Amino acid sequence: MRYVILKKKTIYSNHGMPRCNCCRKKNHLLMSCKWCVCDFCTICLAVESHQCANIESMKEHHLKKLKEDLIKHKTVGVKVIKI
Ligand SMILES: [Zn+2]
Ligand SMILES: [Zn+2]
Repeated sequence: MRYVILKKKTIYSNHGMPRCNCCRKKNHLLMSCKWCVCDFCTICLAVESHQCANIESMKEHHLKKLKEDLIKHKTVGVKVIKI
C-alpha cells in the first residue's frame, strides 16, 4: 500500500490582510497611530477619528512642545531687545 502525503498550502489571503482597528475594513495600507500603537487605515489614522485611547498624552505632548517653543521665542525676543 502506498500513501501519498499531500502538504496543504496555507492560504493567508483570508486571514493575513490586516484590518483597520477602527472601521474594521481590510486594508493593505495600514498605519499605526504613534500614541496608542494600533493600526488604522489612512481615514481613521487621525486621533479624533479613532478616538485614540492616548489622546490625553498626545495633548500633553503638544502642550509641552508649545510651551517649549514659546520659551525659545521669548529668549530670542529678549536677546533682540538687549541688542
Ligand atoms: Zn479605518
Ligand atoms: Zn491612537
